[in-house]
Amino acid sequence: MNPDCLILRLGELTLKGRNRGRFEKSVMAQIRKSLAAFPDLRYKQEFGRVYVEIGGAPYDQISSSLNKVFGLTSYSPAFHVPLELEVIREQALGMMQALPQIPKTFKVSVRRVNKDFPYDTQQMNYLVGGYVLQACPGLKVDVHQPEVELRIELREQQALLYMQVIDGAGGFPHGSSGKALLLLSGGIDSPVAGWLAMRKGLELEAIHFHSYPYTSERAKQKVIDLTRKLSAYTNSIKLHLVPFTEVQTSIHGVYKDNLLVTIMRRAMYRIAEKVAQREELLALVTGESLGQVASQTLPSLNAIGRSVTLPILQPVMMLDKKEIVRLARQIETFEISNLPYEDCCTLFLPDNPSTNPNLRVVEKVEEQMDFLPQLEAEAIRLTETIVIRIDDKDEADEHLF
Ligand code: ATP
Ligand code: MG
Repeated sequence: MNPDCLILRLGELTLKGRNRGRFEKSVMAQIRKSLAAFPDLRYKQEFGRVYVEIGGAPYDQISSSLNKVFGLTSYSPAFHVPLELEVIREQALGMMQALPQIPKTFKVSVRRVNKDFPYDTQQMNYLVGGYVLQACPGLKVDVHQPEVELRIELREQQALLYMQVIDGAGGFPHGSSGKALLLLSGGIDSPVAGWLAMRKGLELEAIHFHSYPYTSERAKQKVIDLTRKLSAYTNSIKLHLVPFTEVQTSIHGVYKDNLLVTIMRRAMYRIAEKVAQREELLALVTGESLGQVASQTLPSLNAIGRSVTLPILQPVMMLDKKEIVRLARQIETFEISNLPYEDCCTLFLPDNPSTNPNLRVVEKVEEQMDFLPQLEAEAIRLTETIVIRIDDKDEADEHLF
């Protein structure tokens, strides 16, 4: 059964006053944008909720768009019928019978907004519940842990019936927390970090370092595909592609020891910070996760993080790999990340990367590399920037290759 209405619930309960107003306005704007392909939808906003008449529009497509709207707490596909007991009863029974199988237990919960309706909540529970019970042998009422909760809202003009409350993406509306720059590798962690950052209301640009021709065009394409997945949650994402080969090979030319990774990553961070400042972005977002590899021990994070002054946000820092993978599957980046193309960080790896780099030593080694500032500036100058949109796959691909 294609529902004819949706109930959308916006925002966290803790939001108050002016904040709530602003919050709801921007979630609403994002909902309208993401459902723009269905121009016939009718919206009615009310106390933290939105009722959407969907007419004949396909529910499956609508719900998959809604799942990408941050700030949407939950939603329910619903049916509306006239405010008449008999019709409500029939609709309730029809919905139970349309389930793949009749549940063992259920409960009716009525909410009466319309105080003129002749039956009160208790009476309605009984009148509708009893009717359904009679028609479904074996079905029982369980008020504590029912398998199915059939909810009925008695509104001013009509009654709404629904059974499902589906979790939305949650979080804060897109852009409400400001803008940041995501360091996006081709790996599993950084797209998840980006998604978590966006869910907290950050608008992102992304930056990727490639070492062409040591890394392939396909590695670059992978990052474009990942960015496109993330862009489904906004509308478009600017992706900065930094040619990092010169910086890497030059460092490697004079230094091959155990601090190599630390030094390369510091160069990466410095470049990212400059690009962020140029684009007026107030933080870097990365996919580091504590203890995962040599460059993600506390001393490494310290030595690397000290190369910049912008805040570095690391949303997956405290998550287990298993949790990160679960999220990567949920946001559909896992399969792309899992493709085997090499990342620039895996090139020139020393045999024994330091897990305990000493900041002073690192700075000393770097001081010898007087070519670095100029090469970093040159990398920024040669950076190409493309805008990735969810729906322009062909255009972006042609533009690049
Ligand atoms: P990921 O799964 O995101 O690649 P990782 O576990 O492989 O992370 P590292 O390779 O140490 O970890 O990278 C840590 C973080 O540094 C990444 O999550 C990403 O934010 C950033 N990073 C690494 N390589 C690149 C790159 N080539 N371009 C942009 N950012 C990068
Ligand atoms: Mg990686």
